[in-house]
Amino acid sequence: MSLPHSASHEFGRILLAHGDITKLDTDAIVNAANSSLLGGGGVDGAIHRAGGAQILDECRTIRARHGSLATGKAVITSGGKLHARHVIHTVGPVWQGGGQEEPQQLANCYTSSLELAAEHQLRSIAFPGISTGIYGYPKAEAARIAVQTVRDYLMHHELPEIVVFVLFDEENLHLYERELAALSEA
Ligand code: ADP
Repeated sequence: MSLPHSASHEFGRILLAHGDITKLDTDAIVNAANSSLLGGGGVDGAIHRAGGAQILDECRTIRARHGSLATGKAVITSGGKLHARHVIHTVGPVWQGGGQEEPQQLANCYTSSLELAAEHQLRSIAFPGISTGIYGYPKAEAARIAVQTVRDYLMHHELPEIVVFVLFDEENLHLYERELAALSEA
């Protein structure tokens, strides 16, 4: 698996990478989609731009069959022109102050994406910092939820074998490094 840029760390089955998730060749990359599944800004826009029209076509088909995607749920498409074979689209919560079940919804994004990957026998998956861009989730809290939820999942499941957190900005990278360091001290 090639990781973008040089900053990657290994902590058992969890890796950190700094850079653009569209460059990864994991079995799946996760898209921080919106409920329309029809594309948007941020990482969603980058994935659709890099992956081409096939991903959007498949999203349209899913939407026509099942309607819009609820917060915390995930669906899977092919990876189109990406190196990754699949894209798992999940909808993170919009931060509204924390009293609207945002922590549980964010954790659900990670768990449902991992479950979908396992159902499809995928061995590796890469996550962006879901909800930490346009959706405004506080980054430190989001990093804690992401790392703990994935760690808890991996403790009880063999697939996916490898989870990569791909952090676009240095602030997120450092927050994740801190969370992983805290885990290794625990
Ligand atoms: P959301 O609407 O869930 O907040 P965004 O796409 O606005 O989604 O941001 C989610 C996170 O993805 C942010 O931390 C942002 O910096 C990051 N991001 C944006 N583009 C990319 C990319 N190409 N690869 C990885 N992460 C990205």
